[in-house]
Parts: sequence; C-alpha cells; structure tokens
Amino acid sequence: MYEFKLSTKKDMILIVEDEEAIRDMLGYSLIKEGFSCDEAVDVDQAIASIESNRPSLILLDWMLPGMSGIDYARRLRNAPETKDIPIIMLTAKGEETDKVKALDSGADDYITKPFSTKELIARVKAVLRRYSGDNDGGVIEVGGLLLDPDTYRVTANEQEIEISPTEFKLLHFFIIHPERVYSRSQLLDHVWGENVYVEERTVDVHIRRLRKTLEPFEFDKFIQTVRSVGYRFSAR
Ligand code: CA
Repeated sequence: MYEFKLSTKKDMILIVEDEEAIRDMLGYSLIKEGFSCDEAVDVDQAIASIESNRPSLILLDWMLPGMSGIDYARRLRNAPETKDIPIIMLTAKGEETDKVKALDSGADDYITKPFSTKELIARVKAVLRRYSGDNDGGVIEVGGLLLDPDTYRVTANEQEIEISPTEFKLLHFFIIHPERVYSRSQLLDHVWGENVYVEERTVDVHIRRLRKTLEPFEFDKFIQTVRSVGYRFSAR
C-alpha cells in the first residue's frame, strides 16, 4: 500500500542506552547499514543531542539512570517539537504487560533484549518506512474528521487533535479503505509493513489508543470491531 521512498539524506538514529557494550553494538550495526548515529547515556544527553541534531528515530532503553525510558518516551510524545520522532523501546523485560506499557507510553515498537542485530535493523527500517511512505493523496475528510498526510495533522470538527504517527498511519489506512474489514495480520502488513515481526496484539493496543484519541469527538465509533475477524472503518 505505502510506497517506500528512498531518502537522499542518511537517517540519523539516536541511541539512548547506558550500557556501553550495547551502545557500541547498536552503533556499529546501524552505521554498517548506512545510518548515521548519535549516542546518549541518559535522558539529559538525549535532550542535548536532539536539540543539536534532530534524529530520524530514537532507540530508547527502558532502564536508564535517572529518568526512565518510559517516562522519557511520554515526555517526547507530549512535546510538540518531538512528538513526530519515532521511538523504538529497548527492554530486557519480557512480560506482556510491559510490552503494552511500552506501546502505551507512545513508543512505536519495542524490542526485547537480547536481540539479534538483524531483527533490530529490520524493525528500525520498518518504523522509518511507516513514517516516510504516506506523503501522497492530499487532505482527506470524512464527516468532520480531517487528515492531512503531508503534515500528520488531524482535525475533528475543526479542532486539531493530538495523534501519534502510528495512530495517524492506522487512521489514514482505515479512511482510504472504508467499510472493508481487515484482520489484525492484514493491518500489520499494510500499516506496519510486511516482514515485520510484530505480534498481532500490537494492533489492538494501537486501535485502543486511536479510539481514545478520537473519543472526545465521538469519532471513535468509526473504528468498529468485527468480532472474530478484525476491524473496519465506517462513517455510516
Ligand atoms: Ca539500561
């Protein structure tokens, strides 16, 4: 669905990780893949890095000295100047509730340590692809809900609403494919990209977040659950 556009500039990845060995491994693997990197050992360094050179994506460790990665992800999402930077959480925790917590904090994806560099690179590319691919088509409006794919802006009844890039992608996909029912795995393929190792449960988490975002304007009713099949967008 979404086309992958080659960028002429190298994507810069900010690695926020306090363990030197992991930081070095990440930096080495990313540079080998053609990315440029900046490194930070804690949130303070990350803030300084973003101010001097805005990254294309942030790899954010959960457990950091001082402010945790989860709290920092929330802060990044809530600040207008950083809310559009994709985040992948690095976590040593494997519990399902922690994964949900990572996504709920505003991260676009998470990766559990220990991970292979191959998996990491695949996820980084998938998230970047998700962010770069939807710049065509122009503004779309459905019943008072307006989406601008060029600016990632969404307005509901002429009021601008805060939406994370992944939720934007999901909403955009739904809006341009109204009335059709999509299974979780189909949504993963179309919105997250094929060959991405993401659990289907991730879709539910993002659907819940999208509904919550739309709820104050009663547009959450457009995102309908089709029992034992998946989800559908319907403005009828
Ligand atoms: Ca750590």
